[in-house]
Amino acid sequence: MRDNTWLFQKLDEIWDENFPDIPQHNDVIIKFGRKARQRLGSIKQEAKTARDLLNKNRKTIITINGLFRDLVVPEYVITATIAHEMCHYAHGFSSPLDQKFSNPHQGGVVTKEMKARGFTKELQLQKKWLKDVWPKYLEEKMPYKPRQRRRRKMVIKWI
Ligand SMILES: [Zn+2]
Repeated sequence: MRDNTWLFQKLDEIWDENFPDIPQHNDVIIKFGRKARQRLGSIKQEAKTARDLLNKNRKTIITINGLFRDLVVPEYVITATIAHEMCHYAHGFSSPLDQKFSNPHQGGVVTKEMKARGFTKELQLQKKWLKDVWPKYLEEKMPYKPRQRRRRKMVIKWI
């Protein structure tokens, strides 16, 4: 079953296998989020108050597209998504590590990092699947709904 426990094990494996040099100085949480068309995953560090921002070791949260719970979605799509977010972590984005670039996607740094860490195959397969299958999949599972016309509420103003 693909639940948050499964995701956590997956992150653990990926970290141990492909990111063993990346230290973990904070708690890292991974979970399925909302179903989305565009966003495969995201990484953030929570800060509820300005004071939280001062804590470099505050919690990191990796969120994975809720549609990826579906077993029809190949595992390599999720592997590549987790690896992508881990590259951001390694580069010091949404993590306690020193920030290596000014922009998280500067000059294809994530793709380069993924390839260097052994995800060339997953990257290719993911790209192909997103191109060949994802649009049809979305049409079936998350069709665009025409926006409902809303009646404007009549407002009577008393002057
Ligand atoms: Zn990214």
